[in-house]
Amino acid sequence: MKARAFSYSRPATIAEALTAFAETGGDASYIAGGQSLVPALALRLQAPERLIDIAHIPELRGISLEDGSLRLGALTRHVEAHDDPLIARCAPLLAFAAPHVAHPAIRNRGTLGGSVALADPASEFPAMMLAMDAEMEIAGPEGTRRVPASAFFQDLYQTAIEPGELLVAFHIPAAHPKHRCAFDELARRRGDYAMVGCGAMLALEGALVGEARIAFLSVGPVPVRARAAEAVLAGGALDGEAIRRAQAALADDLDPQDDEQVPAAMRLHLARVLLGRLLGRIAEAS
Ligand SMILES: Cc1cc2nc3c(=O)[nH]c(=O)nc-3n(C[C@H](O)[C@H](O)[C@H](O)COP(=O)(O)OP(=O)(O)OC[C@H]3O[C@@H](n4cnc5c(N)ncnc54)[C@H](O)[C@@H]3O)c2cc1C
Repeated sequence: MKARAFSYSRPATIAEALTAFAETGGDASYIAGGQSLVPALALRLQAPERLIDIAHIPELRGISLEDGSLRLGALTRHVEAHDDPLIARCAPLLAFAAPHVAHPAIRNRGTLGGSVALADPASEFPAMMLAMDAEMEIAGPEGTRRVPASAFFQDLYQTAIEPGELLVAFHIPAAHPKHRCAFDELARRRGDYAMVGCGAMLALEGALVGEARIAFLSVGPVPVRARAAEAVLAGGALDGEAIRRAQAALADDLDPQDDEQVPAAMRLHLARVLLGRLLGRIAEAS
């Protein structure tokens, strides 16, 4: 199958992109890396009249640190999430997750903005944005606003981005040296979408856990914060007993449903296994 014939525009600014979208009356798609959109066009899952190529808008680029907040332009590519030293220091969960996203050719073109705007529940970066308490900067005809990750992911492939709006950048509280991070996922084959994935970020105060942040992917229609497990860990030692209690608490955090690939009970089991591994890794390294 081939994509529907479409018109193409290549704006140089956010304002031009928003205008180009409005001109079509909404029958348009922004394209960034094209790694999800192009297959969707080829399969006619999407058939917009116009493609608006945002890949050449300088305002959507850049990796910088200001007042303890890491700003990542929406066009930051997956490969940069893995290779950039500032990201490795300030947002290590992105760097740890990146090698699990697809394959090198896709990571060379795919953008963080495209991944998070798409909000596939099996995607790594959306869940890590949730774990890091990132804020999404969104531009629209009415101006610019910021939405916390906790309010951004609303339902399956649905986010706080309204039709025609652009995801501009991510603002991420920079990790501190006391933070210990780990990411892993369980997939049938390397490069496949995960059956379950998890990122954990713990602030260690001596032998005690200060704050714990844990987020899962592939456990429901949106990425999920494991608040009950986080509460179990906060304020205590990271020992075997605490890890077992955090694993048990996932029954309150996660509500996976049966699907063709993985029964719900197995997914919860896998999530517990994964969390135990990550916390064990952090404990060993501390
Ligand atoms: C074979 C294969 C395997 C893959 N495996 C994985 C995987 O394991 N894990 C994973 O997470 N992903 C995976 N992906 C998806 C890949 O990571 C995509 O690159 C990513 O999801 C989208 O990024 P993009 O820049 O290519 O976005 P595009 O394909 O250009 O766009 C995706 C969607 O986001 C919208 N969009 C893009 N940028 C913006 C913006 N700034 N503001 C508003 N809307 C925007 C587009 O309109 C479109 O609807 C895989 C893809 C393929 C083809």
